[in-house]
Amino acid sequence: MSEPSSSESTLTLTTPIQYLPGVGPARATKLRKLGLRIARDILFLFPRNHTFPPPPTKVADLSEGEPATFIGTITDAELMSRTPGKSIFAAIVENDSGAVRIVFFNQPFRAEQLTFETQVRISGTPKLAGLRWEFTHPQYEIVQEGELPDEDAPGGLILANYPLTEGIKQSDLRRLARPLVNELAGQLTEVLPERLRTEAAQRLNAAGMELPDVLPGISDALRGIHLPESEADLTAAQTRLVFQELLVMQLALAMRRRSLTSELRAPSLECSATVRNRILRRFPFELTGDQRRVMDVIAGDMARQFPMNRLLQGDVGSGKTVVAIFAMLVAVAGEHQATLMAPTEVLARQHYATLKRMLADSRVRIGLLCGSLGAAERRDTVEKIRTGELDIVIGTQALLYGVEFHRLGLCVIDEQHKFGVKQRVTLRDGGVDPHYLVMSATPIPRSVAMTQFGDVDLSTLREKPAGRGAVHTYLAGDSWRDRWWSFVKERVAEGRQAFVVAPRVGPEVETADEELSELIDPAEPPAEDITSVHSTYEQLRTGPLKGLRVGLLHGRMASDEKQQVMETFAEGELDVLVSTTVIEVGIDVPNATVMAILGGNRFGLAQLHQLRGRVSRGTHAGHVCVFVDGDKPPQDDERLKVFEQTLDGFELAEADFRLRGPGDVLGQRQSGDARLRIADLHRDVEILQVAREMAQDWIDQDPEMESEGLEDLKSQVLRRYGNHLDLSDGA
Ligand code: ADP
Ligand code: MG
Repeated sequence: MSEPSSSESTLTLTTPIQYLPGVGPARATKLRKLGLRIARDILFLFPRNHTFPPPPTKVADLSEGEPATFIGTITDAELMSRTPGKSIFAAIVENDSGAVRIVFFNQPFRAEQLTFETQVRISGTPKLAGLRWEFTHPQYEIVQEGELPDEDAPGGLILANYPLTEGIKQSDLRRLARPLVNELAGQLTEVLPERLRTEAAQRLNAAGMELPDVLPGISDALRGIHLPESEADLTAAQTRLVFQELLVMQLALAMRRRSLTSELRAPSLECSATVRNRILRRFPFELTGDQRRVMDVIAGDMARQFPMNRLLQGDVGSGKTVVAIFAMLVAVAGEHQATLMAPTEVLARQHYATLKRMLADSRVRIGLLCGSLGAAERRDTVEKIRTGELDIVIGTQALLYGVEFHRLGLCVIDEQHKFGVKQRVTLRDGGVDPHYLVMSATPIPRSVAMTQFGDVDLSTLREKPAGRGAVHTYLAGDSWRDRWWSFVKERVAEGRQAFVVAPRVGPEVETADEELSELIDPAEPPAEDITSVHSTYEQLRTGPLKGLRVGLLHGRMASDEKQQVMETFAEGELDVLVSTTVIEVGIDVPNATVMAILGGNRFGLAQLHQLRGRVSRGTHAGHVCVFVDGDKPPQDDERLKVFEQTLDGFELAEADFRLRGPGDVLGQRQSGDARLRIADLHRDVEILQVAREMAQDWIDQDPEMESEGLEDLKSQVLRRYGNHLDLSDGA
């Protein structure tokens, strides 16, 4: 179908929009609000989505107000023209199933296209006019002779829906785009050489997509996104454009990863097979496949002469600590020191105990640096770190800042999500950096990992160690409370232990986050405040859980006091621990299998999942019961429902991403936030993955993108991301 328009023989990519056919100064002003300045911009005004016409219908299947497509032959056509501007054109379209009428008001030119015996495919919404179905102003397409599709073929035009602005209608943009695409798309520079498009198509097809063997070139892709001929045509076009956008971003990130590390020096800590096996023999269990794989990757990283910068993510209980211990022992075997920073003292002490136990009969010297050390002891430890008399130092992060190491080879940061993003330590030592291993139990959605964390390498432990008990999650109404406390008593009678988590320390404290609550003065909670940890503790101890040994733990307690309570609980001398989310991070008490979360609506999905991780450590089945504040049943809360139904931390992270939208998650972090025009990080995560892998491989082989045919792609990378990523020409 072609639109009536003047000849555009002088049209070029840079023609200002106001000179485009049918535009003019007034419209041009409106179009500029959409960022359109020259003809080329319209080619890159990507549709928000497309409207697919329904498949062809028989007359008998038509119904009032239901969109339909009808294919047939024009058996009668009449232009009823009285005064100019008041014409009516009507035609009868007929096929084996019957006939319909089509009507156009004030569009006399239709009579020239829709002539007697022309075959057409019309799409629109019919209404009954007398005894006949009538389509007013349908979309239509002339079906060429011998080209009539068979009955099942999807029919009709796929229509692009553009972003709009005031005074500009969908049909205006469609009418504008069509001739430009047909005439100008062929003049664009192709930035993706064919071999690259072939490789991309191969990788995308291997990832389960259904694409042609080569991704379309730029002009076909633009035609396919503005004027798709079929769904497959549209998919191929869209994929090509999304891929290009993501590839450009990933090339920039890969170049940056490279430039960050290639300037830095780190000790090369090679790990021979003998050393490796000697280390692995220390672990009292069979490693999971993921653990082995990640250890190999880390050993490879640490053998290089520039710093490892790796994020290890794994759900709670996936066994990240063992991987960290492995890496630390590789450093020690390479005659360097290693340090592990934990977000809380409780956790630091737990790691220290684990290491002491595992390395009891070895010569590795381990130290602990934490707040509760006396001044003399601290001085002594700091001195030993400086002189190299300690091989491994565990501590809370704050305490390890500013401490001078003799020869630091590796720095492990545990539970990185607790620290926020800007926690890179600079522990330089004569121009040599340590290797970094950062661990997080908050799974990052894949798309976020590949964009925001684009400049770190990423490893994932997905597999859980064998023999883990299942966890059951319940969303409980208020009426559950009595039943739940009896259930807790039964489990305790069987020898298990329980957690009760409250969101607040006192009534005024809205957060249960340790760091924050520590800053807030304690207040005497009123007894009826069920969600404060104090009142909950008092109520349970004297009420439903009377007779059990109940302990209390929260962030405002002194460090040694907290430590004391944790140890008592870990040793089984307490049955129930009433706590704030202090227990969230990393605590390992396999015998604790039941947990009540009070005020569950106040917690984020990631936090809930962390909490649940506390009761899925042992071999017994875990039980988590979520209560909420307020009168609404917990089932009304979409997040809680997802939490109940999803055990996998990665799926939860994806769900959280979906529920909150990328805006919240993406925030304003640096690397990936340059505006994406066509890619959707959530929808296009597979394409993102392929773009990332290809970019990485490419930059590994050709760091400066100097190989033939990549000039235009390279300048696009630098144009879009040059400033953003601190890449200048030749970086
Ligand atoms: P997280 O990834 O949450 O930090 P941890 O490293 O604390 O997990 O491991 C959780 C528990 O699983 C620990 O008690 C640890 O000793 C145990 N564990 C780790 N790896 C294995 C394994 N391969 N087989 C059995 N148990 C394991
Ligand atoms: Mg851990």
